[in-house]
Amino acid sequence: MTPTIGLVIPCYNEEAVLRETTSRLLVLLERMRGEGLIAADSAIFYVDDGSRDSTWALIEELSAAHSAVCGIKLSRNRGHQNALLCGLLNAPGDALISVDADLQDDLEVIPQMVQALRRGDDIVYGVRKKRTTDTFFKRFTAEGYYKLLAAMRVQIIFNHADYRLLSRRAIEALSEYREVNLFLRGLMPQLGYRSSIVEYDRAERFAGESKYPLGKMLSLAWQGVTSFSTYPLRLITAIGSLISLASLGLAAWAMLTRLFTEEALPGWASTVIPMYFLGGVQLLSLGVIGEYVAKIYTETKARPRFHVDVLAGAAFRQRGRLD
Ligand code: UDP
Ligand code: MG
Repeated sequence: MTPTIGLVIPCYNEEAVLRETTSRLLVLLERMRGEGLIAADSAIFYVDDGSRDSTWALIEELSAAHSAVCGIKLSRNRGHQNALLCGLLNAPGDALISVDADLQDDLEVIPQMVQALRRGDDIVYGVRKKRTTDTFFKRFTAEGYYKLLAAMRVQIIFNHADYRLLSRRAIEALSEYREVNLFLRGLMPQLGYRSSIVEYDRAERFAGESKYPLGKMLSLAWQGVTSFSTYPLRLITAIGSLISLASLGLAAWAMLTRLFTEEALPGWASTVIPMYFLGGVQLLSLGVIGEYVAKIYTETKARPRFHVDVLAGAAFRQRGRLD
């Protein structure tokens, strides 16, 4: 069977790239159709994540001009992970491939992803070969982060972001995960379906600027840790135990010095420094515990992760509004 493929592309203020992205993707789809790799009704699904520029107007224009372009407009900005999820849960197709709007991920591996699907894989991960287009800082922190997750026994594919193919049944499995704090790349290995990787080189963004400033990046990284590991809580227990043991040792030393020598332990430093240190450790521990409590709070409220506002394009014409 020739699979119908959907390309799911979250967009936040991407007016600078959308025309170019669309024409490159249409060429790719046409080529794969010509090779008999994908079905004729394969299409592009843009998800406008509450952009403030003319992104949605552009998506409407493109979908009116090309039957293979469709759009989903969210009611407001919900962040990349939620926008991507919305596209995955609403776009039709035998398999969906998530790509960024700026095409930093090399499109040339998409045919390989589809071939892997046809061989029976349900998840195909795009994995970056070298991080040469990254700054030293990004490379260093990214590597440290993946190692940290691995050390916490979080199953994670190294150097894989959100460039991947998911089969229909993998998407159905994903739809059963109701978590509000999304970290999609961490969820994928949980599905357990047969997977493979394709390697690619990441290019520079060809226009516009990154929509992932450091703050958002750190927040996603923290999401990855707290959604998949309780290791930080154990670390607190371990630190607490160590400090308690050390202070027992110190107390014994102080007592013995008092009993068997002429002098008591001198100095204010031995009193004040541990006080500050312990205060710091306690606040830090409370903060970490607080993060998990906050997570329980947001997860139990289970608020909707997105609302669809408008749909555009042939694939949605019969369906009207969705949610
Ligand atoms: N994006 C989004 N919502 C946001 C931020 C980003 O949908 O709130 C989209 C963005 O339009 C792009 C993708 O997520 O298609 C990745 O963002 P970007 O390329 O800016 O991240 P970077 O490659 O710099 O990490
Ligand atoms: Mg990018």
